[in-house]
Parts: sequence; C-alpha cells; structure tokens
Amino acid sequence: MQPLRIIIILPFFVSFSFLSQKKFAQLDHELPTANEYRTASGAPGHAYYQQKADYKMAITIDDATQKLYGKETITYTNNSPDQLDYLWLQLDQNIYSQNSETKLIEIEKMEDFRSIGDIQKRMFYYDGGFKIEEIKSLSGSKMNYSINKTMMRIDLDKPLAPKSSISFQITWWYNINDRMAVGGRSGYEFFKKDDNYLYTIAQHFPRMCVYNDVTGWQNKQFLGRGEFTLPFGDYEVSITVPADHVVAATGECQNYASLLTAEQRKRLEIAKKSDSPILIINQQEAELAEKSKKTDKKTWVFKATNVRDFAFATSRKFIWDAQNVNVGGKNILCMSYYPKEGNPLWEKYSTKLVAHTIKTYSKYTTDYSYPVAISVHSKSIGMEYPMICFNGGRPEEDGTYSESEKYGMWGVIIHEVGHNFFPMIINSDERQWTWMDEGLNTFVQYLTEQEWERGYPSRRGPAHLIADYMRSDKKTISPIMTNSESLFQFGNNAYGKPATALNILRETIMGRELFDFAFKTYCERWKFKHPSPADFFRTMEDASAVDLDWFWRGWFYGTDAVDIAIDEVKWYQLNTQNPTIEKSVKKSENDSKDIHIGVGRNKLSISQTINEKDKSIDDFYAKRDVYSVDTLDKLEYSDFLKKIEKKDLELLNANKQFYEITFTNIGGLVMPLIVEFTYLDDSKEVFRIPAEIWRMYEDKVSKVFILNQEVKSIRLDPFLETADTDLNNNSWPQETVPSRYQLFKQQQTQKENPMQRGKRVEELNKN
Ligand SMILES: [Zn+2]
Repeated sequence: MQPLRIIIILPFFVSFSFLSQKKFAQLDHELPTANEYRTASGAPGHAYYQQKADYKMAITIDDATQKLYGKETITYTNNSPDQLDYLWLQLDQNIYSQNSETKLIEIEKMEDFRSIGDIQKRMFYYDGGFKIEEIKSLSGSKMNYSINKTMMRIDLDKPLAPKSSISFQITWWYNINDRMAVGGRSGYEFFKKDDNYLYTIAQHFPRMCVYNDVTGWQNKQFLGRGEFTLPFGDYEVSITVPADHVVAATGECQNYASLLTAEQRKRLEIAKKSDSPILIINQQEAELAEKSKKTDKKTWVFKATNVRDFAFATSRKFIWDAQNVNVGGKNILCMSYYPKEGNPLWEKYSTKLVAHTIKTYSKYTTDYSYPVAISVHSKSIGMEYPMICFNGGRPEEDGTYSESEKYGMWGVIIHEVGHNFFPMIINSDERQWTWMDEGLNTFVQYLTEQEWERGYPSRRGPAHLIADYMRSDKKTISPIMTNSESLFQFGNNAYGKPATALNILRETIMGRELFDFAFKTYCERWKFKHPSPADFFRTMEDASAVDLDWFWRGWFYGTDAVDIAIDEVKWYQLNTQNPTIEKSVKKSENDSKDIHIGVGRNKLSISQTINEKDKSIDDFYAKRDVYSVDTLDKLEYSDFLKKIEKKDLELLNANKQFYEITFTNIGGLVMPLIVEFTYLDDSKEVFRIPAEIWRMYEDKVSKVFILNQEVKSIRLDPFLETADTDLNNNSWPQETVPSRYQLFKQQQTQKENPMQRGKRVEELNKN
C-alpha cells in the first residue's frame, strides 16, 4: 500500500449533519420519576420505608411419611404511610397443587416427550401444596382468608394503620416433594442403599409478600421461574426431627448444649477459631448414624435477625465441618453439611469455598454481617437462602469425578453462597427482575472464581463468552429488562449477559477504580433494603460521573449485538515541500507503478519508435526531467524555509504516518473502539476511543490516527473485551478467524473420566 502525500494549506471547517441520536438519548422515559422514597441519585430517599415481618415458627418433619407440619405466628409491621385493608401472603408450595398453572402454561410439542422418563415426569402427580388448617388472631378469633393459587389474602377486621403491627397465627401441613421425581428448589432425596432421607426444606411456610412504593403488594403469582420477593424480619424457629438427625438452618442454633455430644461441642469450639475446616461429625460417625434409625425426636431451635427468609436441611446422613472467617473484624462460622456421597469433593472444598466467597464478596459489595454461612450438599441443584444454600456436585460412586464436575461444584457453591449478598442482603424484587440478583451475583461470582484459581475457566463473565448468545436469532433474545417469566434463554439473558455487561463496564467503559467504587456504593446504599433497577442504574452514574444511559439502553433495554468492523484504511504522509525529498518520492512512486501488458509486449515487437530514431523532433517537454531538482525549486524552498516557523517545519519533517480508518457498526450496539496497531518492527500500540464517538453517526464513523511508524496490521478489540460477535471483520489486512462453532465441534465427549483413567494408569504401573 502506498501512502498519499498530503499538502496542508489552510485550516478548514467541516459542517456535520446529524443523522440520529437515539442510542445516546437519556433514559428519561424508561426510568420512573424520582420521588421522596427513591432519589434521582439512586439512593433511598428521605421518606424511604419498608415493612417488617417477624416469624415465630414450630416445624415438625415426619420422616416416616415425609410430611411437614407447621405453626407460625407472624407479626407484621406497617411502616408505610398507607393504611392496609388486607394482607397478602405467598403460598409457594401451591405450585405443586392440582390447580397450579405452572404445567398448563408450558409450551409443549410431541418432540419434548422422547423418553419414558419425559412422559413420566409430565404425568407425575403427587398431592402437593399447602393444606391450610387454620388462620386466627392472637385472641383466638378466626380470620377470613382467600387463596388464589400461590397467593393468599387475609382480610382484616379493621385496617392496619401506618406505624402499627398485627400478629396472627397460621397452622398448616404439606406432603414434601420427592425432589428427584418432581424437581423443585426444595424437597427430599431418598437414598435407597441405606434407606435414608435428606431433606432440604424451603418455601415451607406461608410468607408475607412485599408491600412498597414500587409495586404496592408484590403479589404476582409464583409460576416457577420468577423467584421470591420478601420483606426483612426476625425469625425464631424450632424444628423437630428424628433424634439422630442433624439440622442446618438459617441463623444460629440456640440449644447445641442439649443436642450435641460433649465431643461434638468441643470440635465446634475448635472450628470457631480455626482458619481451615474442622470436622464436627466425620464420615465414619455419619455412616453409623445412617444405620441408627431413631424414632424418638429432638427439637432444634434457631434464631435469625434481619433476614428475608428461612430455610433448613435435615438428615441423619450428614457429615458436618466448619471453620472461621473474619470479615471487617467480625467472625463468621462457615459450615458444610453433606452425605458421604458428596465425598471426597465436599470434605476437601466446600467450607473453604464458603469462606473464600464470603471474604471476596464482602470486599466488592458490603461486609457480610450474618453470624454463619452454610453450604449443604443437595444433588443436581443450586439454590440459595439467607445464610444457607443447597448445592450439587456429586462424584461418581467410585469417588472419582470429571474436571467439569469439580468446576461445576466450585462454581455452584461460590454462586449460591454469593446469593447471600444478592438478593438476601441487597434485597431486590426477584419475582420481577431475575438479573438484579442472578446477573449481579454472577458478576461477583466471576471475580471470586478468578481469586480462587488463576485462569479459572469461568462460564460467565468475560465478554467474548457472551458472543455466541448475542449473535443468535433476535427472535430468541429478550432485553435484560424483561420480567423473569418471559425471558428467552434464561441463563444467557439473566445470568450471562448482565454479568458480562458489568464486566465490560469495569474493564473497558469505566475502569476498575470508578466501577468498584460505584458498585460498592450501590451495595452499601441498598443493603437490607429493596432496590429497583433505576436505583442501580442511577447510583452507578451518580458515584462515577460517567453517563451510562447509552450503555443501559443498549445492553439492558435492547437486543442488539456488538459487531464493529474495520471498513476502510487510508494511509497518508505529509508533503515536506522539500523538492529533493518530494521529487524522489514521486519518482519512486512512478517507478513502482504497474505496467499495462501492451507496454511490455511492445518493447519486444517495436524495435525503435520514431522519436527514438529522430531526436530532432524533441521539444522542451520531451527533454524535461520532471524528477530533477532545478535552481528555481531550490530557491523556492529556501523562501519557504524563511516563512515557516521552526516547530511547523519539524512537524513536516517528522515523518508522521496518518491512518484514516472507517469503522462500521454492523451489530447496532455502540461500544468503544479499541484499536491495536502493529508496526513494521512488530512493536504494538493500542488506542482506546470511547463509545461516544458514535454519538452523532451510529452506523459509520472515521478516525485519524497519527503515528510515528508505518503500520503492518491493525486489529479491533484485541483483548476480547467488547463481546464483538464477528471477529472476521476486525482486522486489516483481513484475517480469518476460525468460527467458534468449529472450535466447539473439535471437542469430544469421554465416557471414562480422567480420574478413572488415571487410576487405571496407576494400576498398570504397579503391575
Ligand atoms: Zn443464582
């Protein structure tokens, strides 16, 4: 490629016509108007309020029939300025009742029923759902109530005035679901080999709905996907189970003295001071308990303050270990409960992962302020509750496991323990917005994974990992700002894309320092409160002075993908006006011109032209050497040198290289331009152009780069940070990148896991 030699004469002005500015318009129409409850800066307003729901509860698990019996006293405090005529409660178990709409609204085709298992699952019926026995006031009078599927309205004799409380009692029972047959976030797993049950129990009691300034009563039906929206409160829960069961629950156990042996209590005290896991019940002891099958009962009592929910796990199969982690000067007891089927993975990793997660999240969000953090092994699922979560990651029966099983277990524990922060502490409305807990959580999960192992193969977070999703058919992509139930591609949309977007803000748009401060500000402002999307969007801008409306618009309200192409590259050098230099440049340009085929052939076929034979016909032009420097050229140049200022002359002679690059926005999503130049000597230089370059022309822009050296090649997004969906148009000269589809196809599935193969190798080496 030859550069164009440009002569700079006069300053000139170019007038632009504005095409469209939709992508950079402020979000005024999309965000709710700020008010005294929520400010325009994204912080809680001076009149911010939230309701409180305190629970005193007695739960009994009947291990013989797998039934749960419960009785609760709810004290509900109305901190709103409004009088309430009735209360709404959530009956999540009713998703398994006969009139549940969850299965009815599933879109189905015959091809969904490929196996006996698919059909059995579809036809499976069990008598699930809450059986409400009685609702009465504390004085004993019955209260009227009405159940609408997963929601229950309790009518009040007289309205609940602002700043007042009401207490009432509910008695109920239900058949616990077989989680392996019915599915679900809670239920039981039956272990046939030793005839034991492992219960992971949640959504097991009628729970208050949230009433606030954003939704009024959040009583949108529970259909299965959109999770839970719950007020904070204090819990006192007694759980009665077979005497040989071990119970793990939200909160602190109040009566270990009457439940644990002296030896177990001693081990627990050691664990409280240990920075690595200490077994309180070891595998041998748990295996003994598996056989004991006691029928007498014991009651475990737990208390939890300022939590939005309560969950527990109980089994006689539990191995139990614990260690301390210190966050902000506060000791937190990290614990794991798992059956022997979880080993060796669980004993080795679970509690260490809990401690690491609590510490890392506290750094990026807000200090963990609950006294315990628990991980319970529960096959195939990952589900979160305050202080406790249920996690999969089960080795083969021979104790080996694939690497993906190990990373799956690590990832799910970090993720579910991370949910303590989103939404348990930073208590967003899960029924409405999945991304506010899953997306934010998946983002910090990524940061935590990277601090657990260098190069951890995180599934979600790095920009390029979302590219496949972003390039998929637009009909199958929803904006992130879509209700939980209506999202296409749930995992990609509610977990992957928001996590990626935050990562891009941190690494590319805002930089780590500004991002981390703003993100922490959001977490500190909204801990133990109910944030909405606008509170997040506004706080991120308020704390950083970065206008991100275009980013929220593109990434959260839109479905466009990033695909920016290098369209055209033009190369220029400055004309030095020095005839000695410029004439020789012209000569070499002329010498290197391509020659028409006829010219070469004529050299052979025409032995002599007329003017070669007859020099008398030559005139001035025929004799002139246009590339020689004559006296007048020299005089003119010395004249020029007298007029030009020294610094201008230096610039003319600096041999600067001008590259005008035209970029096309094919995908639609505007993003910064990260342009890497490779010079002739293979050294590299990177330029970062903010996304605002697209503010007037959203489809095509050009930029001039003034460089000190000639360029060999140019690359766009060389560090894979913008989620560009087509890398083929990112380079000049164009390079073809193998498509991700081809890369994927090269992978093969293995039947034997590498650990099993390793064992075979060991055996062979022994013989
Ligand atoms: Zn999650």
